[in-house]
Amino acid sequence: MKDKISAWVDAHESEIIARTQAILRLPSVKAPTAGSGAPFGTPIAEALHQTLSLCGDLGMKTENFGGYAGHAEFGTGSEIVGMLGHLDVVPPGEGWTHDPWGAEVSEGFIWGRGTSDDKGPTFAALFGAKAVFDLCAAEGIPLSRRVRLIFGCDEESGWECMAHYFGPAGQPKPTLAFTPDAYFPLVYAEKGSFTAVGEKQVPEDRAALLRVAWFESGLRPNMVPRDAGALLVGDSGLLEGAEHVLVPMSGITAERTADGLLVRALGKSAHGSTPGQGDNAAIKLMRALTSQISVFDDLSSADSKWMTDLALRGAPDGGEVGIGGSDEVTGALTSNLGVVQYREGVVRATFNVRYPATWDGDETTGRFRASVEKSGWTVASLSHTPPLYVPQDQEPVKTLLRVYREQTGDTTTAPLTMGGRTYATSVAPVGVAFGAAMPGDEDCAHQADERFPVARLLQCAKIYGHALYELAK
Ligand SMILES: [Zn+2]
Repeated sequence: MKDKISAWVDAHESEIIARTQAILRLPSVKAPTAGSGAPFGTPIAEALHQTLSLCGDLGMKTENFGGYAGHAEFGTGSEIVGMLGHLDVVPPGEGWTHDPWGAEVSEGFIWGRGTSDDKGPTFAALFGAKAVFDLCAAEGIPLSRRVRLIFGCDEESGWECMAHYFGPAGQPKPTLAFTPDAYFPLVYAEKGSFTAVGEKQVPEDRAALLRVAWFESGLRPNMVPRDAGALLVGDSGLLEGAEHVLVPMSGITAERTADGLLVRALGKSAHGSTPGQGDNAAIKLMRALTSQISVFDDLSSADSKWMTDLALRGAPDGGEVGIGGSDEVTGALTSNLGVVQYREGVVRATFNVRYPATWDGDETTGRFRASVEKSGWTVASLSHTPPLYVPQDQEPVKTLLRVYREQTGDTTTAPLTMGGRTYATSVAPVGVAFGAAMPGDEDCAHQADERFPVARLLQCAKIYGHALYELAK
C-alpha cells in the first residue's frame, strides 16, 4: 500500500487543490445562530454541508449532527479510527496582502484564512482517507477498523461541537484518533487548563480621601493584558500628589480629567499559555497604585487591599493561588491574570491556568478554589478542560511517529508537548495532534497572510493516508 497511497495522491493533485480551494473560499467564521442546523451561523453550516456532500460524492457514508459537527466514514468493524478536524476559522483581521477568502495559489503557497488552521490539513486528511478507501476497494484489501472523518464546527470558540457530538448526539469515542491541528512529529501531551472568574465585594468607601472609581484591564482570559486603566477620585491636592509620584514611573501615565486622575499602564501582551513572556499591565497598574506608601496612605484601605492582593495572586507561576509546580512531561504550571475589572463595588479577576499533563484536574482546581476563597473571594465560574497524556510507548503515538519518520525522512525531531489544546483532549487518552506544521515552519495560524505550502498539502495527504491505513488495517 505504501507506494500506492502516494501515487494515488500524485494522480489526484489538481482535484485535491481545487476542492481545498473551494472550502477555503467559504468565510466560515462563527456568526449568530441561523436556526436549526446552523447553530454557529450560515457560513459554517454551509462549510459542513459542502464537506459532507463531497465525502458523499466520494462514496463515504455521511451524517450531519445538527450543524454542530458531522462525520464521513467507510469500512466495517466495531472499532473506529478517527480523524478530527475543524471547519470553523477565526476572523481574518487586518494586514492581509492576499484575499483572505481568495484561496489564491502563488509563490508555492495557498493563501487564505484556514489554509493552515485547519481546513487545509483537514482536507489533506480527507483525501488521504479517500486514497485508502479507493485502494482497499480496488485491491480487495479489508480493513479491520472503520475509518471515520469527524468535522467539528466550533473549535475556535466554545467547543460546543465536540460537546454535542460526544454528548447529546451520542457518538462513540474512536478507538484511536488524531487531529491535524498542531505540529509534526506529533503532540503527545497537552496541559490541562481552566478559566476561573474570582469575585469580591469591595464597597466604595466614600469617606476615604482617595479611592478607585473604576479599574479596567484585559480583553480575553488567554491573553496577557497590554493595557490597563483606572480612575482615582478624591481630594484635589492628594490627586496632584499622586500624579507627581506616578508620572515618572516606567510604563505609567496619568492625566487630570474633570472626574479625577486617569492612570494608565502599558505592558506587553503575550499568549495566555506563556504569561512569563508578557508584562501584565493590570499587575503593573495595581502595583503602581499601591506601592508608594507615603502618598497612598490616603487611598481607601479596601482598594489598597484588593489591588495588593490581586497583584500578588497574578504571579505567572500560580504559586500565590496555591497551585504552583511542574511535572517531567509538560513542565511548569502557568497562570495568566487575563482580565481585571472593578466597577460599582465589585472586583472581578479572570485567571487562565494551564497545569501539568500528569496532574489530577479536580485536585488542582480544588486547591485553586480553596486558596482563592480563603482570602474572601468567591469563584463565580470555572470551566475546565482536563489534560491529555499518551505515553510514547502507546498507540496511536507509536504508529503515527513511525509513519511520520518514514514519510519525511526526519528521524531525529522528538515528539512534542504543549500548553494549548486541540480536539485530541476530547478523545483523551486515545488521540493526539499530528501535524500539520513541520519543524521549523513559521507559525501563521490566526495571523494575516495565513498560508500553507501547496507541496505540504499533498505531502500531508500522503502522511495522513498512510496513518489512517496503518491504524485501521
Ligand atoms: Zn485549529
